[in-house]
Amino acid sequence: TPGGGPKVREEKILVTVRMRPLNQREQAMYDLIAWDCVDDHTIVFKNPNHERPANQYSFDRVFDPSSSTRKVYEDGAKDVALSALTGINATIFAYGQTSSGKTFTMRGITENAVKDIYEHIKNTQEREFVLKLSAMEIYNETVVDLLNRDSGCLRLLDDPEKGTIVEKLVEEVVKDSQHLKHLIGICEAQRQVGETALNDKSSRSHQIIRLTIESSLRENAECVKSFLASLNLVDLAGSERVSQTNADGVRLKEGSHINRSLLTLTTVIRKLSSGGKKSGHIPYRDSKLTRILQNSLGGNARTAIICTISPALSHVEQTRNTLTFATSAK
Ligand code: ADP
Ligand code: MG
Repeated sequence: TPGGGPKVREEKILVTVRMRPLNQREQAMYDLIAWDCVDDHTIVFKNPNHERPANQYSFDRVFDPSSSTRKVYEDGAKDVALSALTGINATIFAYGQTSSGKTFTMRGITENAVKDIYEHIKNTQEREFVLKLSAMEIYNETVVDLLNRDSGCLRLLDDPEKGTIVEKLVEEVVKDSQHLKHLIGICEAQRQVGETALNDKSSRSHQIIRLTIESSLRENAECVKSFLASLNLVDLAGSERVSQTNADGVRLKEGSHINRSLLTLTTVIRKLSSGGKKSGHIPYRDSKLTRILQNSLGGNARTAIICTISPALSHVEQTRNTLTFATSAK
């Protein structure tokens, strides 16, 4: 640890919820809207069939279906994303069931973050920036390079200085914002590869886009103040892949539907947010996803979680699971 002290998490995790509009399929089956965003922080179960007691949940921010992605970015991700420009690792997740809007939201967040990062670089002439992009997909606990699928299944190695590193992962030096958009486009196209062979692959896999940002003051080599941090943009597997866990959340049940990385992530997040001595051992090493993200979750890092939900009554159980996770992350 720099400074030698124990790693202490000062910032709490920023937790927001975004509710998408009813989709065409839900509209066609006359599904009902089950939730109401009553203010910027509170979401209430409307109890449309009067079957259950009404109840409410509150978060740092709640976005109703009319909220633009720009708004979601501004209030739910921007501060965390931009901290990577000043040497603080950042991770932004979209968490939610399949079809709740994770990919839609993360694409927009990524686009907005790229725009703001280049804006900042333009306005910070006194510094020299070097940006690098890498991208991975984790599927069934195997890690694949989205910028070089031919390299097959990548191994994770432990580096005494850097922590977990992904062996042979391509890191492209980014020339400008157009080049960055182009590279992100390649990652998105690569993620579709193999979709037809197993059509729910995107609901089972995690995608990490990692932008590493290094900067130093241009003049006077004597007092060069340099920053190095990464921004991790993570589109998670569908949260329906997490089963119920026991009280401390560490048990992994065997079975094809359980996603080890997602389950471990929820445990790690819960422990980080409960903070301090209470959190005890944080099981980063139990999954590929949490090993890769370890330095960007604990310690000198900031995290934002955008939980995406469907408004539909037919999805109410999954939405409750998502809101329960979101509550545990606060
Ligand atoms: P997920 O990645 O969680 O499975 P997607 O992001 O693919 O879900 O979203 C499912 C569908 O809903 C897509 O067609 C997407 O364009 C649409 N969608 C998701 N969120 C919104 C939103 N906030 N506004 C409008 N359409 C949305
Ligand atoms: Mg998706």
